[in-house]
Amino acid sequence: MGYDNDNIFAKILRGDIPNKTVYEDDAILAFHDIAPKTPIHVLVIPKGAYVDMDDFSANASADEIGRFFAKAGEIARDLGVAESGYRLVTNNGENAGQIVPHFHVHIMGGQKIKEGSMARGL
Ligand code: AMP
Repeated sequence: MGYDNDNIFAKILRGDIPNKTVYEDDAILAFHDIAPKTPIHVLVIPKGAYVDMDDFSANASADEIGRFFAKAGEIARDLGVAESGYRLVTNNGENAGQIVPHFHVHIMGGQKIKEGSMARGL
């Protein structure tokens, strides 16, 4: 599946629709999820055009991947959830229920998350 330039996160990256930015640099954008499932629910996305985790892990450079996950951890610390705990989730493809076809991870925290629960249906 190719990258869809009209997906909602591509529009956010172009500035066509607004977002509540938590962090931004040349390669990464983090913003609050529009429908938070936990008190802290932030999405972290690379600015590169990657469809999902499969695409990102296969086609991004080791530097890009390393910077992305290091920054996700830093953002979680800055959000104040590192000590109390958080869930890092990525939905890859249809069976996982991925809605937006631009690779992203969810940082979810601020409450106890039920064992085994996923990004939705907490
Ligand atoms: P998924 O693709 O299943 O990992 O989930 C996509 C996530 O993006 C959902 O949690 C949505 O609430 C969130 N979302 C969709 N549109 C927006 C938007 N415009 N701004 C922020 N978050 C969004």
